[in-house]
Amino acid sequence: MTQPTADPLRNLVDRAERGPLTGDEAQRLRDGIRQLHDWLTTARAADRAEQKRAERAEAALTALHHGEEPHTDDRTIPTPAQWIWRWNRATPEQRLEVAADILSNSERTYHCVLEDHPAQIERLRQRAEEAEAALDAVQGDRDGWRDRAHGYRTAVNAVRRLHEREPEAGYCAVCSNHGDITWPCATIRALDAHTNSKDQT
Ligand SMILES: [Zn+2]
Repeated sequence: MTQPTADPLRNLVDRAERGPLTGDEAQRLRDGIRQLHDWLTTARAADRAEQKRAERAEAALTALHHGEEPHTDDRTIPTPAQWIWRWNRATPEQRLEVAADILSNSERTYHCVLEDHPAQIERLRQRAEEAEAALDAVQGDRDGWRDRAHGYRTAVNAVRRLHEREPEAGYCAVCSNHGDITWPCATIRALDAHTNSKDQT
């Protein structure tokens, strides 16, 4: 609604000072006053509506900042109140980045819970411990076998030394006592059949 101009009314008032207005002039004066009055009423209503809108906007802004606390030291982790303070001052790009991070973390957490990762980790830890224990047992067995093998070779070597060939006679002195003068004697033949003569410690 455009603001009615007051000039025609002033002209009519000037005209009234010079003599009585005609019926038509008086009517135009009345119409002009009514238009001005209507315009003022409408303008005041619009102003009140504008005022209310401004109040609502201010209330919304206050609600947005409610609970926030300034966070200015980037080296510290913000509290929730400080996080909101930062969020309210972030650029749209920064907000999108943060939102993407939060969603990604939520998804990871969701899968972690869904797939029960803590229990899986515990099971894997137990299996690792069992495997370590089994390995220790195998190593213990191996050490035992090594000791036994060593003892066995020592015994075989002692027997071989006992049944050495007499250089001059050409046979084993021990077995010749029982009439065995072949070389190698029966004992050495038996050892050669079942052991490696080079396998000596
Ligand atoms: Zn012998």
